Amino acid sequence: MSTLDQATLLARVERVRDRIAAAGGDPDRVVLLAVTKGFGPEVARAAAEAGLVDLGENYAQELVAKAPVLAEAGHAVRWHAIGRLQRNKVRALAPIVHLWQTVDRVELGAEIARRAPGARVLAQVNVSDEPQKGGCDPAEAPRLVGELGELGLDVQGLMTVGRTGDPRAAAEGFARLRRLADDLDLPVRSMGMSGDLDVAVAEGATMVRVGAALFGPRPGVPERPRAPR
Ligand SMILES: *Cc1c(COP(=O)(O)O)cnc(C)c1O
Repeated sequence: MSTLDQATLLARVERVRDRIAAAGGDPDRVVLLAVTKGFGPEVARAAAEAGLVDLGENYAQELVAKAPVLAEAGHAVRWHAIGRLQRNKVRALAPIVHLWQTVDRVELGAEIARRAPGARVLAQVNVSDEPQKGGCDPAEAPRLVGELGELGLDVQGLMTVGRTGDPRAAAEGFARLRRLADDLDLPVRSMGMSGDLDVAVAEGATMVRVGAALFGPRPGVPERPRAPR
């Protein structure tokens, strides 16, 4: 897919909003974060033209390349950093990122605080007990959130990636993230992707991060192998 047909995209946006509503969420309140990783700037532009204002990217290089294209086209989008992040990438991203969603250690938070004082962040928590997934241990989350706050960062909530495989298997982890966020008095819960957003919304997601269900299969990113179902 070289260009994304706008009618198709609008229909998919509607479909995702319908799924949010069917799962018991308010489609006007659950933030739909459009994940444009792997696609060129034209897809990010199509997303903006479809009225999606929150866009997510995993890779610093892609974010740095796409942001100016959208800015020049006059789209005031909010960029979210949702990939595993190395400290040496923070500087280049600092002027671009609206919300840093994958802060899983205080060292990374310190670098963000240095380059973008007061930045909005989410603490990423691994609630799936899958060691290959990013995020701090749930037991560490309260301390991490406290330390990020002490760095002057604006900690808005928690983010997680659901357990791979049957979406129903992710529910328990999502519920755990919700309880953690409630305990810490944090309003934002970023959880749920194309395959498991229904479960995530049912468990209280305030933001879902959706790529494939909006844009189709990704051309540019090798998919991580999925666990057999
Ligand atoms: C790629 C990615 C998404 C979007 O995944 P889809 O399955 O395409 O919806 C969401 N969150 C994170 C952290 C991702 O890396």
